[in-house]
Amino acid sequence: MANTVYLLLGSNEGNRLEWFEKAMQLLQDAGCNVVSQSAIYETAAWGFEDQPDFLNMALCVETSLNPQGLLALTQNIEAQLGRQRTIRWGQRTLDIDILLFNQDIIDTPQLKVPHPQLQNRRFALIPLADIAPAYIHPVFNKSIATLLLECPDNLEVRNYKF
Ligand code: ADP
Ligand code: MG
Repeated sequence: MANTVYLLLGSNEGNRLEWFEKAMQLLQDAGCNVVSQSAIYETAAWGFEDQPDFLNMALCVETSLNPQGLLALTQNIEAQLGRQRTIRWGQRTLDIDILLFNQDIIDTPQLKVPHPQLQNRRFALIPLADIAPAYIHPVFNKSIATLLLECPDNLEVRNYKF
């Protein structure tokens, strides 16, 4: 398991917690080792007030897959779970974003790592800071905790009680 990866799960449709459980199971089934998970957070859907709120959770995963292989797996999991219902543009049963892949910097049309919006989104930084506050972002050379303090986003991100 050579690679340490941070993923962000997001859902705003259907049984949101169930998609997270199923996604973690499918990752494990594919040989990825889920080594830690953040708390679950709820955020209003930005810019689309008529959409249900999002839940987000960050995962630390150890995998022997390379970045392209991991992207193929996460897209396969999205498709498997997303197929169950897709009512309307914008709503999504499950979104999986690759936030960080070791200290790699990848810039291809299919895959950009670190995720280009990570530093701008409290709904990504807050769950990531739960499990990796001291992790150094390889582009900005700052910790996740520092990026969160400096983040200009003021969207409310609340602990999800269930
Ligand atoms: P978004 O997550 O921005 O709302 P999608 O989940 O539909 O949108 O992803 C759109 C595309 O983003 C995917 O087809 C994928 O190839 C690309 N992509 C680029 N970088 C990443 C990344 N770090 N993690 C996940 N997808 C990425
Ligand atoms: Mg995505």
